[in-house]
Amino acid sequence: MPLIGLTGGIGSGKTAVSDLLAKLGAGIIDTDIIAHQITAPNGSAIEPIREHFGVDYIDANGALDRNKMRTLVFSKPEAKKALEGITHPLIRQETIAQAFQMAKNGVPYIVFVVPLLLESGSWLPLIDRLAVVDCPVETQISRVMQRSNLSRAEVEKILQTQASREGRLAQADFVIENQGSLSQLTEEVNQLNQKILQIQGG
Ligand code: ATP
Repeated sequence: MPLIGLTGGIGSGKTAVSDLLAKLGAGIIDTDIIAHQITAPNGSAIEPIREHFGVDYIDANGALDRNKMRTLVFSKPEAKKALEGITHPLIRQETIAQAFQMAKNGVPYIVFVVPLLLESGSWLPLIDRLAVVDCPVETQISRVMQRSNLSRAEVEKILQTQASREGRLAQADFVIENQGSLSQLTEEVNQLNQKILQIQGG
């Protein structure tokens, strides 16, 4: 069963693509969703985060206080490292559990949606093919500004922490162009699905 990594910069359209692939029957494992689950109330990362960072970083509901943590990790690289030291192994563990379950359920292939797949490095050995969602940087910025209350400068700051458009494209086995309409994207995703199913056949 092919294991596909799906990545792309912030606002490129990873979720839009993975939602369309799910409709076509793919098994989708979204590491962003897992990251949210483990830092929600009673999530497996909450206790280790409380122990390491203190109770100030847990909100009244028992979830990670994302705003506070975001501010901390932006200014302190060692805090970012510590947080990732807690969350990454838990995300990996849950990813593997979900993948086994999907394999049991007989999905034709599994797509791991990983925003920082190339930046983290540890995913590449696990996947058979890399699919990259691509659009111009300007489109990313305007999409993210539209959907959040981030300023242009804040979005640009996030972009600087991510791999470049060229860097991602250079490593891609499949490129999903997402600079047009959602119906064009649907067509792109249908073609990607066919190509992935051919890997299985070949
Ligand atoms: P992030 O990394 O920030 O989670 P993402 O790569 O998952 O983002 P999406 O959430 O799929 O990106 O898309 C970002 C925003 O742009 C969403 O609001 C989405 O609805 C919108 N969008 C994505 N693709 C298109 C498109 N082709 N046309 C119009 N809007 C789009």
